[in-house]
Amino acid sequence: MPVPPPVQPVFRFAPSPNGLLHLGHALSAIINHDMASATGGRFLLRIEDIDRTRCRPEFEAAIVEDLAWLGLSWEEPVRRQSDHLDLYAAALERLRDMGLVYPSIMSRGEIKAAVAAAEASGQVWPRDPDGTPLYPGLERELPTSEQEALVAGGRLHAWRLDLAKAVDHLAEPLTWREAGAGPAGETGLIAADPAAWGDVVLSRSDAPSSYHLSVVVDDALQGITHIVRGRDLYHATSIHRLLQRLLDLPEPIYHHHRLILGADGRKLSKSNGDTGIAAFRAAGHSPAELRAMVLGVAPPYGEGGPSPRA
Ligand code: GLU
Repeated sequence: MPVPPPVQPVFRFAPSPNGLLHLGHALSAIINHDMASATGGRFLLRIEDIDRTRCRPEFEAAIVEDLAWLGLSWEEPVRRQSDHLDLYAAALERLRDMGLVYPSIMSRGEIKAAVAAAEASGQVWPRDPDGTPLYPGLERELPTSEQEALVAGGRLHAWRLDLAKAVDHLAEPLTWREAGAGPAGETGLIAADPAAWGDVVLSRSDAPSSYHLSVVVDDALQGITHIVRGRDLYHATSIHRLLQRLLDLPEPIYHHHRLILGADGRKLSKSNGDTGIAAFRAAGHSPAELRAMVLGVAPPYGEGGPSPRA
């Protein structure tokens, strides 16, 4: 029997151009790049710019500049999600045809007010792993004709996945292979828990696709074999695995890596100007120094600076 050729690993770094890259992004990009080099794999850059209200071309330019300064190289052309909205719409359509999606009409403000009212009356409102309250609306229970009337009447706010129905649809247990570790050290074969996320948004009237939907579509289309990203996205993997199964997409291997925390012990954010790659560069540090620092083989720069041992 001929032996099938080994599958070439494909890695990607997928930032959103809604701010400047910080040291946590540098760690993620470097790990992906180095794993690709070490395994004879490919390294791709993907620009996740679905959220048109927050993403800016100048941030995309800064991402490219920062990564090039770090000495990383990636395949061209770079995939930009805003160029592929038709593909995410097709995936949404497929889920809708399967009867797993419903139109929700409550705005963010209405959701907040409804949850606050329920909590004020003593109810404990369930929240997703990111701390966002689960959707309080009940449109999922309406007959299809009434759901269609909401859309026709211009009431649509977001298309949501009917999580309970979607989970019922699964023939086999939903798992993933974790080659890194979750926040509590979880590793190996992990049982996914998509129900914790409730009825996630798949598209909004003001944003054509959600992060969850576009990321699984693109990872499959780009043939990503290894998803290496920060531990802050560990729990989102449950939803990604659910969408992959529903859409018949291949299952990648996941590797969640540690986060770099700021001096306040919290995850870095794009607004932490002083922990940006650009700020580090402007302070006269070299790419090699930054690499050593984020990989944890050199002390963090400056007093009270970010800790690579998070
Ligand atoms: N675009 C996401 C972010 O910037 C990362 C997506 C992923 O790695 O799955 O946080």
